Amino acid sequence: MNKDQIKTIAELFGKIAPDDIRMEEVEFDGKKYKRGDKIHIPQNEKDFKDFENKMKQIFERQNQDNFTNLISEQHEHNEEEGPLQFLINNCNLNKSNLFQFTIEEIEQLLIEIDRNQGFRFIVNLNYLAFYRPYHYYPTTWGIYLDIDKLIQQGQRVFDYNNQYNCVPNLTDFDAFLIAFFKTYFHEIYHHKFEAMATKIELVNRKPFYKDGFNYYYCNTFRSDFCLEEAFANVHGLEKSIDFLKENAGFSYAPKDLKKLIRKSLLEFASPGYRKAFEITDLPLIERKLTENKFIELIYKFSYFRINGVMPGELTADMWDLFTYKLDPLINTNNDVTFIARI
Ligand SMILES: [Zn+2]
Repeated sequence: MNKDQIKTIAELFGKIAPDDIRMEEVEFDGKKYKRGDKIHIPQNEKDFKDFENKMKQIFERQNQDNFTNLISEQHEHNEEEGPLQFLINNCNLNKSNLFQFTIEEIEQLLIEIDRNQGFRFIVNLNYLAFYRPYHYYPTTWGIYLDIDKLIQQGQRVFDYNNQYNCVPNLTDFDAFLIAFFKTYFHEIYHHKFEAMATKIELVNRKPFYKDGFNYYYCNTFRSDFCLEEAFANVHGLEKSIDFLKENAGFSYAPKDLKKLIRKSLLEFASPGYRKAFEITDLPLIERKLTENKFIELIYKFSYFRINGVMPGELTADMWDLFTYKLDPLINTNNDVTFIARI
């Protein structure tokens, strides 16, 4: 999509945040992120060398400082109000804005996934990165990465590996690359989710993202109901392993990397995020089915909230036919391009 189309979608189906202005800094939960310092994500092995050099410079500079670790940093954050679009959307983290059928369905899905931790949510999150959706930020939308925190997380992965030896001979810089790309692809997944909602909006001509997908997200954020975070972590794990093998010449065994990421980054993550630990242990077919069930659940929630009636029956199998639903581009080389109630 080009800039004009993004702006049109934001105007038609979103709500443009008052701080969506082109400037050097973007503020998120009280912290300033510098814009313009864009990292070009490498597309092939050759490309990767430039990226690696740039990262190595930052990495080495940071390693000379005695930075605090992630655990102690968590206390730095006081109670946050959450991203601005949560305020715009009047979100409430106590289930009160959800429908009873939605609560029952998500609880059932959590039982199927296994570790049912319900709605317990945590107050403080330590952001390594965040995604600004174009429905609210047509100018400043995109992925923002906190490189210092990513280096710290890489350190955590490295330390964990030193202790438990999941991946033999893993270097500290490669541990950083794991943390970086796992997070990057996690954020990409939020973009994919927004793209899917946009496809549904184009067919239905209703604000499915603002009033549905994102509304569910912001009302369940920091709880296990917020499975978008879990699937973002699943995507982060799977894509980063493939990507690093293809582009960074990683020769570590993928199953070892998977074990390391699951144990060091997913198992004890925050509510919502941590469900990826169980999901990544499911057989692929079950994993896909769980994701489709979640998408169906969000779709039903959104449709009911917008139209006041339930949509026609759409099973998880049908969502499976909608092959490119999570593709950021509108891809017509598929069985089902859009999905709509008839
Ligand atoms: Zn996320």
